[in-house]
Amino acid sequence: MRFSRLCLTAFLASLALGAPAQAQRSGHPDEALFRAIYKELVEINTTESSGDTLAAARAMGDRFLASGFPAGDVAVLSSGPRKGNLVARLRGTGAKKPLLLLAHLDVVEARREDWAFDPFTLQETDGFFRARGAIDDKAMAAIFVATLIRLRAEGAAPERDIILALTADEEQADSPHDGARWLLENHRALIDAEFALNEGGGGTMREGKPVSANVQLAEKVYRSFRLEVKDPGGHSAQPRRDNAITKLAEGLVRLADFDFPARLNPVTSAWLNIVTRLESPQIKAAYAALAAGDNRPEVIAPLTSRTSYNTQIRTTCVATMLEAGHAENALAQTARATVNCRLLPDEDPAAVEETLKKVVADPRIAVIALGTVVESPASPLSPQVISAVEEIAGEIWPGVPVIPTQSGGYTDSRWLRKHGIPAYGVSGIFSEEGKSGVHGLNEQVGVQQLFDGKMFLYRLVKRLAGAG
Ligand SMILES: [Zn+2]
Repeated sequence: MRFSRLCLTAFLASLALGAPAQAQRSGHPDEALFRAIYKELVEINTTESSGDTLAAARAMGDRFLASGFPAGDVAVLSSGPRKGNLVARLRGTGAKKPLLLLAHLDVVEARREDWAFDPFTLQETDGFFRARGAIDDKAMAAIFVATLIRLRAEGAAPERDIILALTADEEQADSPHDGARWLLENHRALIDAEFALNEGGGGTMREGKPVSANVQLAEKVYRSFRLEVKDPGGHSAQPRRDNAITKLAEGLVRLADFDFPARLNPVTSAWLNIVTRLESPQIKAAYAALAAGDNRPEVIAPLTSRTSYNTQIRTTCVATMLEAGHAENALAQTARATVNCRLLPDEDPAAVEETLKKVVADPRIAVIALGTVVESPASPLSPQVISAVEEIAGEIWPGVPVIPTQSGGYTDSRWLRKHGIPAYGVSGIFSEEGKSGVHGLNEQVGVQQLFDGKMFLYRLVKRLAGAG
């Protein structure tokens, strides 16, 4: 695929020398409109506890109507109180199947007393926008709204419809109100598309220099299990070796000693091909061996001893919670562990359950699957999408490589992929590793980085929709 040698050379150069200065702000007349949309969205509280995504969906719907979108192409849909979704459509010629732009309206909780400022009043200081949702995900939501309004004002006649879906409850695990899921299950025709753009793949900066533009093509699949041992219990002055806690602990040790087999998929293969080039000869050799199909633990140890690589190339399961016993002086009647697994995108969840049973190797340890599993295959490395990203990113951030990624966590792309709509996580919004405050305190995005991302997404949407 097109993660070419050119990219690699640029990648090395960018790490060694620092990438060239960023593009200057466009100063386009729609900047004021974008600022107003962004501020309005951020300042509508959309947390689960006290917020309202329906209010946000209505506010954006009103903006589309005010800018001349026909009422029939703007739909506000609610799945319950304070749960709102907006679907807006910019009509194309219909020559091709639609492009879907997805962003979620809800945000993670933010308590005023924990923050340095009111999280629901947009701050602009020191070259940063700060607020809850400043990035996740109101940056992309506002950019998409402004982009659609701008394209319509410019009289764009794309080859395909461009559909925007702004949705509820992405941040609530397993929510029936998850807007992406709910729209797919109840209003599929409204958002049906050939492929989609979503969050999940921003840009990485180090010391102020952009070092990679990421395109997220896959996510590991989330699946938790309960391991449980029941026992009659008894007096702790008369202990038995086969008590519930000891049995469970022994099973957990066997699990800790077990590794699912390592293997590559097209996304992790393309990713490792780029990122291991700067690594030691041992790591390079381990990657080459794995790429050639040799996954013997001793051969790939240089790769798997690094957690960030290891977790990309295999399914992992780890005990995350423990609970047992009812009294200090009694043998436990119940011992339970929660085991959280992150499956490779093409792993069979039923097979993982069977493997866990074999690994704990004790019929007294019940293995019980928890929650919903959302199987989401990797999106294909579409040359159409990847080459458009490479070309536009290359113009805005010359020398910065485009890197395909697989996330350890998930976004709403899992629902799209599950339902057969390939999703691409790409935003062109760069941030310093670990400094964005996403899901944490004092969430922030650089003003320049946000406007660069806006310019990038406008051009990408236009290109992918066939609007010149
Ligand atoms: Zn998000």
